[in-house]
Amino acid sequence: MSFFTRAIRGFFLGDIFKGLFLTFKYMFKPKVTLNYPFEKGPISPRFRGEHALRRYPNGEERCIACKLCEAICPAMAITIEAEEREDGSRRTTRYDIDMTKCIYCGLCQEACPVDAIVEGPNFEFSTESREELYYTKEKLLANGDRWEAQIARNIDVDSKYR
Ligand code: SF4
Ligand code: SF4
Repeated sequence: MSFFTRAIRGFFLGDIFKGLFLTFKYMFKPKVTLNYPFEKGPISPRFRGEHALRRYPNGEERCIACKLCEAICPAMAITIEAEEREDGSRRTTRYDIDMTKCIYCGLCQEACPVDAIVEGPNFEFSTESREELYYTKEKLLANGDRWEAQIARNIDVDSKYR
C-alpha cells in the first residue's frame, strides 16, 4: 500500500470503520461461545473423565479383584487389596486411585474384563486440596452409582468399535 493510500485511509478512519463493520456483522450471527457453566458443549462417548466403579443392576459390585487395572496402570496410581468372601467370590477390600498420579490414559478401563472401572463423563471434579483427589473405593462406587445411566449409554454407543 502506497504512502498516499495509507494517508487517505488514515484521514477517513478506514480501519475503524472496517472494525465496526465486522462488529455489526457478527452481532447478528448465532453465538459460537457457551455461557459455561450454565451451558455445556457435547462430550464424546469416549471422553475420559473422572473414574467410577460400576455395579450390576442387582447392586453387586462388578469388580472381581483380578488386579489387571492395577498391573497395567503406567502411573501406578491404583492400589488394590482383596480377599475371598464367605460365598467363595473374590472382591476388593481396598480400591484406591491417586488421581494426582493418574494421566487419564484409559488403560485401566481397557484392561478390565467386566467393565467395572471406567472413566466417566464427569470433568468437573476440581478440588481445593490434594487429599480430596485420593479416591477410595466408596468414592469410586458412589461415582458409579451417580453416573451409571450415562456410562452405560456411552459403552453401548461405543461397543461396535471395541
Ligand atoms: S487412566 Fe491410566 S493412569 Fe489413570 S488410573 Fe487408569 S491406567 Fe492409571
Ligand atoms: S476394576 Fe476390573 S481390572 Fe480392576 S481389579 Fe476390578 S475387575 Fe479387575
